[in-house]
Amino acid sequence: MYDFAIIGGGIIGMSVAMQLKEKLPDASVVVLEKENGLAEHQTGHNSGVIHAGVYYTPNTLKARFCYEGNRLTREFCDNNGIKYDICGKLLVATNELEMERMEALWTRTEANGLERYRLDAAQLREREPNIVGLGGIYFPSSGIVSYREVTRVMGRRFEEKGGKICLGAEVFELGEYSDHVQIKTTRGRFAARYLISCPGLMSDRVVKMLCIEPDFVICPFRGEYYRLAPKYNQVVKHLIYPVPDPSMPFLGVHLTRMIDGSVTVGPNAVLAFIREGYKKTDMCFLEMAQMAAHPGIRKVLRTHFRAGLSEMKNSLFKSGYLKLVNKYCPVIKKDDLLPYPAGVRAQAVSNDGRLIEDFIFVKTRRSVNVCNAPSPAATSALPIGRHILEQVDEMIAQSSSQAV
Ligand SMILES: Cc1cc2nc3c(=O)[nH]c(=O)nc-3n(C[C@H](O)[C@H](O)[C@H](O)COP(=O)(O)OP(=O)(O)OC[C@H]3O[C@@H](n4cnc5c(N)ncnc54)[C@H](O)[C@@H]3O)c2cc1C
Repeated sequence: MYDFAIIGGGIIGMSVAMQLKEKLPDASVVVLEKENGLAEHQTGHNSGVIHAGVYYTPNTLKARFCYEGNRLTREFCDNNGIKYDICGKLLVATNELEMERMEALWTRTEANGLERYRLDAAQLREREPNIVGLGGIYFPSSGIVSYREVTRVMGRRFEEKGGKICLGAEVFELGEYSDHVQIKTTRGRFAARYLISCPGLMSDRVVKMLCIEPDFVICPFRGEYYRLAPKYNQVVKHLIYPVPDPSMPFLGVHLTRMIDGSVTVGPNAVLAFIREGYKKTDMCFLEMAQMAAHPGIRKVLRTHFRAGLSEMKNSLFKSGYLKLVNKYCPVIKKDDLLPYPAGVRAQAVSNDGRLIEDFIFVKTRRSVNVCNAPSPAATSALPIGRHILEQVDEMIAQSSSQAV
C-alpha cells in the first residue's frame, strides 16, 4: 500500500508529487499516468507563457496563484538550469472599443499588484516597429519557458527522492474506503491511503469514479496555432496580445515567442469533438452526443453562438485567422503561416451554463481532486501544488480525528 497515489503526469500532478516528497520524504508516493511519457496533454501543448496575471478577477485563486507562480517558476528554473526568457508582454488596442476595454484591464491589473506601463501609439511603435495600435500596456514580468521541460525536471527531482512514476497506467476504477483508496489501472491494481487526482481533461470522469456527481462537465476547446516562417523569428521582441473580448474566456490570437526561438500565432478556441482530439477531423460520436445533451454546454454554445461560429470559420480558412493577427501585425502574409501542433484546453462548464473561471478542487475523505485548472495553471503549478498539500494536511487531520 502506498501512502499517496497521484493521478496525472502533467505539470500539476508532477508539482504536487515533487513537493509532497520534499515535505514528507518518508512517504511512499506513486504517480499514475496513462500515457507513455509526462506532459503529453495540455502541459506539452501550450504557448509556454509565464503569465504575469493580467486578466484575472482580483482575489481569486487564479489571480493569487498566477502572480506567485510567475516568481516561483522563474526561481525553479534558476535553481534547476532550465532556460527561460522574461521578454515582457504588450497588450495592444487597435480601436476605440479596445482602448476602453484596455482601461478596465489597467484598473484590474492595479488591483492584482502588477508592474505595468502605459504606451501611446508612438511608444508602441518604438518598442515594436512591426506592431500597429492606438495604444498599449507593457507588462515586464511576462516570459516564456518550455513547460514540458519544467515537468520533466519536476519528475526527475521526484524520482531522485524515491518517488515512483508508473507510465501507461490508465486509471479506470476507484473505490474509496474508510482507510484507503483502491485504484484499478491498465497496469494492475494499486492501493493508497490518500489519492490526489490531477487528470486535466478527464477531471469530471475521475470524480465520477469516486461516486461524486460533479456540478460541472469538462468541455474541450482546441487551441490551434500556426508557426511563423523562420524569417520572422525576430518580428517581435515581446509577447503581443490583443485586448480580449471580456465575454470570451480565452485571450485571443496572440504572437508568442517560443523558447526555441520560433514565433507562433494563436491559439484560437474551437469546440473539440473529442477530448484529446488534436486534429480537426478527430471526433467521437458518443462524446459529441454527451456534450450536446449537457444543459450547461448547450447554454454556453447558445450564449457564444456567433463567437463560436467565427472561431470555426477562422479555423477552416487561413485568411480569417490571418485577419486577426494582421489587425496588429500587418507584415505577416498568408504563406508565412506554417503548420504547428494544436493543444486542447480542459474548460469546466457548470451545469447552469457558465464557463468556470477559477481553479476548482473537490475533496472527499481520502482524496483531493483538481477539477478545473485551465490557463494560467502551468504558470501557477507550484502554488497550486502547495495549495493541494495544505488540503492534504486538512484531510489527514480529519481522517485521524475520525479514527480516534
Ligand atoms: C492551447 C493551450 C495554451 C495554453 N497556454 C498556456 C500558457 O501559455 N501559460 C500557462 O500558464 N498555461 C497555459 N495553458 C494551460 C496549461 O497548459 C494547463 O492549465 C496545464 O498544463 C494543466 O496541467 P494539468 O497537469 O492539470 O493537465 P495535463 O497537462 O492535461 O495533465 C493531465 C494528465 O493526466 C493524465 N490522465 C488523465 N486521465 C487519466 C487517467 N484516468 N489515468 C491516468 N492518467 C490520466 C493525462 O494523460 C495527462 O498527462 C494552455 C493550455 C492550452 C491547451
